[in-house]
Amino acid sequence: MSKYALALVNIKGLGVKTYSYLIPDEMQGKIQIGQVILVPFGRQGLVNAFCVGFSDYLPPEIRAKKVSKILEGNPLFNIDYLKLLEWVANYYCTDLITVINAAIPLKLIEKASKTEQYLEFVHFDGATKRQVEVLEKLQTRGKCNLIVFEKEAKTTRATIKKLEELGCLRLSNEELYRNPLDVLRITEREELFELSPEQNTVYEGIKKKIAQTPTDTILLHGVTASGKTEVYFKLIDDCIKSGKNVLFLAPEIALASQLTKRLARKFGTEDVAIWHSSISDGERYDVWQKLYRDEIKILAGARSAVFAPLKNIGLIIIDEEHEGAYKQTSPAPRYDAKVVAQKLQEFHNCPMILGSATPDISSYYRAINSKNLFEMLKRYNNAKVPPVSVINMQNHGKAAYKNLISKPLQTAITETLEKGQQIILLINRRGFSTYSQCQACGHVIECPHCAIPMIWHAKDQRLKCHYCNHTEYFPDFCPSCGSDSFKNSGVGTQKIEQYIKELYPENNVERIDSDILTRKGEHVRLLEKFQRGEIDILVGTQMIAKGLDNPNVTLVGVISADASFNLPDFRASERGFQLLTQVAGRAGRGEFSGSVIFQTYNPDYYALASAKSQNYKEFYDTEIVAREEFDYPPFSQIIRIILSSENNFRAEKSAQEIVLRLATMIEKFGVSERLEVLGPTPCVIERINGLYRFQIIIKNKLGEKGHSFISSFIGKITMPRDIRMAVDVDPLDIL
Ligand code: ADP
Ligand code: ZN
Ligand code: ZN
Repeated sequence: MSKYALALVNIKGLGVKTYSYLIPDEMQGKIQIGQVILVPFGRQGLVNAFCVGFSDYLPPEIRAKKVSKILEGNPLFNIDYLKLLEWVANYYCTDLITVINAAIPLKLIEKASKTEQYLEFVHFDGATKRQVEVLEKLQTRGKCNLIVFEKEAKTTRATIKKLEELGCLRLSNEELYRNPLDVLRITEREELFELSPEQNTVYEGIKKKIAQTPTDTILLHGVTASGKTEVYFKLIDDCIKSGKNVLFLAPEIALASQLTKRLARKFGTEDVAIWHSSISDGERYDVWQKLYRDEIKILAGARSAVFAPLKNIGLIIIDEEHEGAYKQTSPAPRYDAKVVAQKLQEFHNCPMILGSATPDISSYYRAINSKNLFEMLKRYNNAKVPPVSVINMQNHGKAAYKNLISKPLQTAITETLEKGQQIILLINRRGFSTYSQCQACGHVIECPHCAIPMIWHAKDQRLKCHYCNHTEYFPDFCPSCGSDSFKNSGVGTQKIEQYIKELYPENNVERIDSDILTRKGEHVRLLEKFQRGEIDILVGTQMIAKGLDNPNVTLVGVISADASFNLPDFRASERGFQLLTQVAGRAGRGEFSGSVIFQTYNPDYYALASAKSQNYKEFYDTEIVAREEFDYPPFSQIIRIILSSENNFRAEKSAQEIVLRLATMIEKFGVSERLEVLGPTPCVIERINGLYRFQIIIKNKLGEKGHSFISSFIGKITMPRDIRMAVDVDPLDIL
């Protein structure tokens, strides 16, 4: 029996912290980790808290108060769960509280305070007068919180008003979209499809592999529409028949939502739940409870679902595993759901399947080496992959509209519009207007040490490498072909939208990029409008490259394919290849055949050529050689430290100090060969919100040992108040 309980509280102004409280005798044997408890807290009086641990010792100067009450008898998590979170905190160089904050909906604490009984939610399509009366009764008995879907036709204004007075929540269409389970009224389940011979071979192969080595990570590389999802479904079916549960992750909410619909149709609404950052607090509470009582068999969700307390996991599936969205970039914990899932796998002793049409280079490398690679290289039913043509802007750039939209692309757009079909135009805005490219031969200047594009700095009139700080003068002539037409290139989505509107004033043109995300629901609204055929030309960033399944889209144009490749990042070619392959897959998905056009100044670039022929293996074979040569992942692990301050000089100086101390330590341990420290350099985005940013890049070739070396070093650093430090383990990019 322990003397003290560790209570995690969330106090306005103080944030999330843990404190120790004395356990009164009558609570001994009853209090458990994961329970919501009531504790005294200074002037706040009694507050709710999570019990997150026990101890027998307190420093003598501290006099602990008593736990007042156990509010929620059923624990909301257990010790294994906390162990997982602890591991995450350790791996990502942050603290447990930060991870708990991200993983456990703290609203769960408050929920318990409001009512000690379960809250119930009633869902229906529209409320009739009679239903409202019933609900009112339930409410007066304090039994029920209500969610009502608004279907205008069925619900009168007066009823809605009444419902609102009763404290009901109204769900908009957009919210419905987030959780399709609420609207699905599934009466008949669909049978699983009979697998094609190719699917069946892969399915049997995976099954055999799982039987032999039940804790392996398997990669399913299947081109878009090869029928991967149907293979997952068979494996899911096997898993739940064996009495275990399935965690199924998709990279983003919209895809998780689509997937949930498909799952519910096959496996029934009862057994399926969805989890992501945008479900309502009520739903979160509901699903959390169900998961904890082991009432859910299949949990689908986005990144954060990896922290949902699903029990008895028998299979983890991560679809579109290459997607950056699995990694949280900001704020801390900067975790990668794929990495956390691997840890989860260890806790549950279960297999994991990663699926993608364009796998992450590191995943593919590992799969080959562990003989865990399965491939489906044809579309289901041999459906055609749209042909890609490459427009060499060296020949077409001058005659192009505003130097951007070439004649062949214009002709293709015009013809497509005449047929009443729809168009996607991709412009990768993350290509800042700063990379320097020869307009005659496509050559881009790269750092000789890091093989990443150098960035033009107008301020000091130099090209700069943002990994190692190497600088060069801007060349008068192209080092490759001698031409004098070197230019800083790159344009944004808004410009393209404007030009396309000028060219096609009669047509409906819309734009989707991160700017419109500031308007809530706008993204979904525009996608649906496009789906209904009310938009002729959709211009956008990578946000439009995924998931769209609109059979009327027959033309996909990429304005500047080069922009995807010329980011100062070692993953730029990989990301560019993925993006171009994915966006090409949006054309010709219905009865009309499609076509794809890439505009480029660099038609021979290997990643572009492989994207044109949609040949992943060819891309991989070239890319992996470069990764090995320059010690990039999977041959090393990258750890990035960012120091920022309002004072440019102070930020740089603190970064230099850290590098110095780190270098001394590394020298002392004689591991400088295997633990390389680069920088400090200014970040590519040098200033955010008035803070100047400097970065240190560490290439760790010592595996776990190197990682613990760095994390214990970082753990010891205390920063002066005016300087912020952020650590990103396995960063997505270094912008
Ligand atoms: P992926 O996940 O590889 O992109 P999907 O599993 O979504 O591909 O399959 C693409 C399309 O082909 C879907 O409409 C799916 O229903 C259909 N399909 C795949 N496999 C089968 C099958 N064995 N029988 C019938 N239809 C199938
Ligand atoms: Zn040139
Ligand atoms: Zn360099």
